[in-house]
Amino acid sequence: MAKKKILLITTGGTIASQHSETGLVPQMNSNQLLSYAEGLTAHYDIDVEDLMSLDSSNIQAEEWQLMARAVYEKIGDYDGIIITHGTDTMAYSASMLTYMLKNLNKPVVITGSQVPIENLLSDARDNLYTAFAAVDSGINGVSIAFNRKIIRGCRAVKVRTMGFEAFESVNAKLNGEVYGDGLRKYVRDKEPAGPLELKDQLSTDVFLLKIIPSTKPEIFEMLRNMHYKGIVIEAFGMGGMHFVRRNLLDALEKLTKEGMSVVVCSQCLYDASDLSFYEVGTKLLDCGVISGRDMTTEAAVTKLMWALGQTEDPNEVRRIFNTDMAGEVHL
Ligand code: ASP
Repeated sequence: MAKKKILLITTGGTIASQHSETGLVPQMNSNQLLSYAEGLTAHYDIDVEDLMSLDSSNIQAEEWQLMARAVYEKIGDYDGIIITHGTDTMAYSASMLTYMLKNLNKPVVITGSQVPIENLLSDARDNLYTAFAAVDSGINGVSIAFNRKIIRGCRAVKVRTMGFEAFESVNAKLNGEVYGDGLRKYVRDKEPAGPLELKDQLSTDVFLLKIIPSTKPEIFEMLRNMHYKGIVIEAFGMGGMHFVRRNLLDALEKLTKEGMSVVVCSQCLYDASDLSFYEVGTKLLDCGVISGRDMTTEAAVTKLMWALGQTEDPNEVRRIFNTDMAGEVHL
């Protein structure tokens, strides 16, 4: 059988890091990475592209666009693409790439590691093997391969700073998993709605606010004065905010009336927010906010950035949030 043709794109991260006087710095290129993962070049036909070499804390909107453009331009020539990336912001990148690459019907698998590849105890080799197996198995769309699991990109959350189970699939089943009998693929292939499209416009005028008991209402005015166009709020539990003494709701309503898009998620990692359950939630809905439902914060923040890149019309932003684009939300 012909070998699968796979493009390996590197962006930096711990996987490619080496010690320096100032701490770990990404500095290994793709060929150096491959030299640590024996067997890969024998099993797959691999091309490489060193796109950037950054700690993922430095990956921002511009880097997402570079990654999305690289995938869009190259994927036609390959069975799939693997992107190595730092774990810290991997879930944000995975969500954003999901939105930017509409109708993606080939695998784009992002991976990295908790320990640099040159360390003998590193998880990097396993993660790379898993990522290549995910492409080989045709797990389409953007996903994260980590600790022998394949997680839908827009459902991944980094939950550990050091443990090897660094990512969890939140409110969604895994896309696949490595077992004794090989990689088990849990997702069925869907016909794409059309040809692949690159939709890489986005807005960086989005703020994430985690409220605490006693957050001051003036924060919203401050964000408006800073010209933010969208806010994701991590509210309490099912989606509540205080209106006694410090009335966050009045301050918020002023903003939504002026056209600010406000998405409310939960501070809880698991399950959905439901703003219709408690009075503190229904009052929030009356203020014109959009419910984040069961989206992860990472998926909601990037969706808002992406939506505001497509349109300035708050009704259109709301419509986008009421659409499941790639399994990031249960409606
Ligand atoms: N600071 C690193 C990064 O995100 C952490 C990692 O890759 O695990 O680039």
